[in-house]
Amino acid sequence: MASRTVAFLGLGAIGRPMAARLAHASGITLAVWNRTAERAQSFGREHGGRVAASPADAARGADVVITCLPVSADVESLLEGDAGLLASMARGAALVDCTSGDPATSRRIAARLAEQGIGFLDAPVSGGTSGAEQGTLTVMVGGDAALLEGVRPVLEAFGKKIVHCGPVGAGDALKSVNNALLAVNVWSTGEGLAALAKAGVRPEVALDVINASSGRSNASMNLFPERVLTRAFPRTFRVALLDKDVGIAAGVAREQKVPSPLLQLTAELFRLAHVELGEEADHVEAVKLIERWAQQEIA
Ligand code: NDP
Repeated sequence: MASRTVAFLGLGAIGRPMAARLAHASGITLAVWNRTAERAQSFGREHGGRVAASPADAARGADVVITCLPVSADVESLLEGDAGLLASMARGAALVDCTSGDPATSRRIAARLAEQGIGFLDAPVSGGTSGAEQGTLTVMVGGDAALLEGVRPVLEAFGKKIVHCGPVGAGDALKSVNNALLAVNVWSTGEGLAALAKAGVRPEVALDVINASSGRSNASMNLFPERVLTRAFPRTFRVALLDKDVGIAAGVAREQKVPSPLLQLTAELFRLAHVELGEEADHVEAVKLIERWAQQEIA
């Protein structure tokens, strides 16, 4: 690809391996910034790239700025001020936001950037931290299709399936619904397996049958065998972030006036799980709540 200058902001659980893919891709000159500077410095030591002092410093001279922060409001907070992105992004550059964001804030960010001739795409990702490490993420993109084609070679450093979903906000909306389905599956599989365990059916036997039958899902095929039955519960995707995602999906359904009792209930359940388990717990640890209520471990 023609050489590109890329800035990556937000080296969290998924941002870091995405940025690492860019650091090792040919034809890309990378600058990174992270709120906690030590994390950016450690990234620089491991993968190279220029470690920037501020969002403005990272974005100076960049064709593409990529953000990956918890929520859209965090991205919006990086725009203004002397150290902000708008202080240094050039006309014709693009901000690609890989945050699992909310459509309304993304539309507001896009409008603000457009005033300065800067393009915007909401481009949340799916595939987890292992997908990021392997460069096999799915990227769901909202915004101008021609702008996406221009930045596609950059996104291909970490994305395998890169799909244009519609106007600005469409990527966010689709991502939120995908994650709401993940949440429904984690919760319902947890309830089902707890009930079966109490009824005398071992979880590995239940999963063996379910995974060869119509009730299977990513939760039953991967998350429960690898994380629940083993009691490993690795921390790869915080329950706080899944709470946020299901909340966005429930909001999209309400805004569109779609009756959605299951989405609204799932949003409530994951809000409760977030409050009970705290900021650092993994999303699969929500199952521990079901186990507590059922007084039955799924193992
Ligand atoms: P983490 O919580 O691991 O990391 C968050 C990152 O954002 C850190 O770099 C943090 O900086 C930074 N940050 C937080 N608040 C601010 C702020 N106000 N201003 C500037 N920087 C800030 O999150 P993830 O990497 O897991 O997730 C990032 C996004 O990707 C989320 O929207 C999430 O829903 C989505 N996602 C995550 C997946 C996963 O498997 N983890 C999978 C798919 C999507 P600091 O180091 O200073 O704390």
